[in-house]
Amino acid sequence: MITLESPISIIKGIGPKRTASLESIQLKSISDLLYYIPRKYLDRNFSNEVFLKEGEIVTLLVTVIDSFLAHGKKSRLVVSVKSKRGEQISLVFFKGIHFFKKIIHPGSLLVISGKLEYFRGMQIVHPEFEVLESEVEESDLTHAGRIIPLYPSNETLKEDGLDSKGFRNLVRLVLDDFAKGKIEIQEVLPEEILQKRNLLRREKAFEEIHFPTSMEALINAKRRFAYEELYYFSLLMEFKKQKREKVKRILWPIPESPTAKKILNELPYKLTDDQLNGIKILKELTKNDVPAAALLQGDVGSGKTITALLFALHYIDNNIQVCFIAPTEILARQHYENILGLFQNSPFLKIDLFLGKDKEKIKKEKTERLKTGDTLLAIGTHTLFQEDVQFKDLGLVIIDEQHKFGVEQRESLRSKGKNPDILAMTATPIPRTLCLTLYGDLKLITIKNKPKGRKPIVTKWITEDKRQNVYTSIRKYVFQGRQAFIVYPLIEESEKIDLESCIESYEKLKRDVFQDFEVGLLHGKMKTTEKESVMDAFRRNKIKILVTTTVVEVGIDVPNATVLVIENSDRFGISQLHQLRGRVGRSDLESFCILMTSNKYSEDAKVRLEAMVESGDGFYLSEVDLKLRGPGELLGIRQSGLPDFKVANLQDDITLIEEARTDIAEITTLGELEKTEIAKRFEEGKILFSN
Ligand code: ADP
Ligand code: MG
Repeated sequence: MITLESPISIIKGIGPKRTASLESIQLKSISDLLYYIPRKYLDRNFSNEVFLKEGEIVTLLVTVIDSFLAHGKKSRLVVSVKSKRGEQISLVFFKGIHFFKKIIHPGSLLVISGKLEYFRGMQIVHPEFEVLESEVEESDLTHAGRIIPLYPSNETLKEDGLDSKGFRNLVRLVLDDFAKGKIEIQEVLPEEILQKRNLLRREKAFEEIHFPTSMEALINAKRRFAYEELYYFSLLMEFKKQKREKVKRILWPIPESPTAKKILNELPYKLTDDQLNGIKILKELTKNDVPAAALLQGDVGSGKTITALLFALHYIDNNIQVCFIAPTEILARQHYENILGLFQNSPFLKIDLFLGKDKEKIKKEKTERLKTGDTLLAIGTHTLFQEDVQFKDLGLVIIDEQHKFGVEQRESLRSKGKNPDILAMTATPIPRTLCLTLYGDLKLITIKNKPKGRKPIVTKWITEDKRQNVYTSIRKYVFQGRQAFIVYPLIEESEKIDLESCIESYEKLKRDVFQDFEVGLLHGKMKTTEKESVMDAFRRNKIKILVTTTVVEVGIDVPNATVLVIENSDRFGISQLHQLRGRVGRSDLESFCILMTSNKYSEDAKVRLEAMVESGDGFYLSEVDLKLRGPGELLGIRQSGLPDFKVANLQDDITLIEEARTDIAEITTLGELEKTEIAKRFEEGKILFSN
């Protein structure tokens, strides 16, 4: 018996060549083929041919009479065709003339769809069409006379006969074999759920998603598969959670922290209600024996760091290790130095900074201290993920700017402790649907309000012709004692040129514009020690103007810097602009963000820049961003750990997501079927079930 797991080569007519080209787009099994969802559907129900009227969109079965090249202002291929009823129509092609001439011959039978125009007779310009091999019989409705699927394809596939029509034939063959009882299609959703949620059975849904009998049936088929995808993904997440919760936390409930109290009293400012509340919720979570996992969301500059740190002290005071990880070296170092600053009046805190560029000997000493439990707070970059970094009793993992890390990285840290609590932090608000699917077991804590006294950052979009005014303003503020950032975009594709133009501008600014001020340069290609000394000089207000790349994007905190100029700002996305803008406005001083562009910019850029000028609210901006880019782009699909859903749409399927989660909450144990399905669908599933 053929099953969905059987190789695709088992289908009649699929030889080694086509097998290879199908494999090149990850289609290996019958199941892969059935889940190859059409990209679009065309309503090819034949039009009533009695009156062919101008302006009407029609689908017709026609025979080619002849074709010729017409030369006029524009060359074009004109193909005369005749419908069954004898009406004559011209098909006109301006593009791909040679290709179309090659595939359309007198006598060919075509299905054409398009809009009728009148120009010395009826014509259709660039119709959607397909060449049929033989007279279409009333009963063979694979390619016309109904709603037909169009499949994604490419040049190589097309050469192997795998255009839309080719795929249609393949899928039809498989579904017919199923109808003849030659293929088994197993149902993978529980019977009760199909009933309860009124979902199509799997085999029926396959038929309808490829060859819909009506638009309504198509919607139902899509709904069924979207549910199926969300169901299995949520099941995986749930199972991961259960597995995690089997191991108990090191210490619960976690006792109060005298050091946290002390630091809190010594702070030069009062914590906001949101910050205090955040700490309270976090402490609540540690009352249980199951590991705590929270996502601390707060706009840039809302004070997440101190919130996390005060919470961390509860572990440290009890000799439980904490690991604090940041996406860049500059940021890790900044956290390290800030923390040392906070502890000036306190007993020595056992803290170490782990950087990728640490010398072998130093690294050895540090890892040794960590392993013996001498170090209680490890701050660092990706280095901390490495295998030779081991803890004695890791109880809490704090991940700053968590969207910069991949899931596997987060998981790898988790595996270093018995079952550490996780506190992830982000300034990128995550849409609710994503939160539910991806971070279903994460407690969401939001810092809504920024510390009091913060003035909104005055944001202006300024074009090249007014550049001198910008420099004049910078001079004014630097004279008043303030500092400024001038940021250049570094885009991966043109990194080298971008970097050169940043360095060039630095030299020019230093020489011609700001001769009387200390100007500094900071970029990612500099040596670590150089970077450190520049950052340090900027922090100590020795450097007044810092020319830099996006290395300063995340987290950098220099409250005295109040002017930020973003060059070529039309090249940045909204979330990046907002992150960058967060480098200023970090005190009660008035701050400015200048978005520079040339006089030319795209429409999209205009939307982004106007949104930035209009709003300083990260939540609002992320919604605009979501609309412009979609959730995958926003979070980075790969990074976020989201599977590549084929049918489900995280922006629209909120109800389905909720239904799937409700249904899953009622499941107590996983059956074998579910386990195999999860393992089959998700790599991680395999890992989960193997140990
Ligand atoms: P983010 O949430 O973007 O990580 P930070 O934690 O870097 O923000 O905090 C931004 C700045 O605000 C820091 O200089 C920090 O010392 C300061 N800060 C934090 N909490 C408060 C508060 N309650 N009142 C005043 N300033 C604060
Ligand atoms: Mg931060």
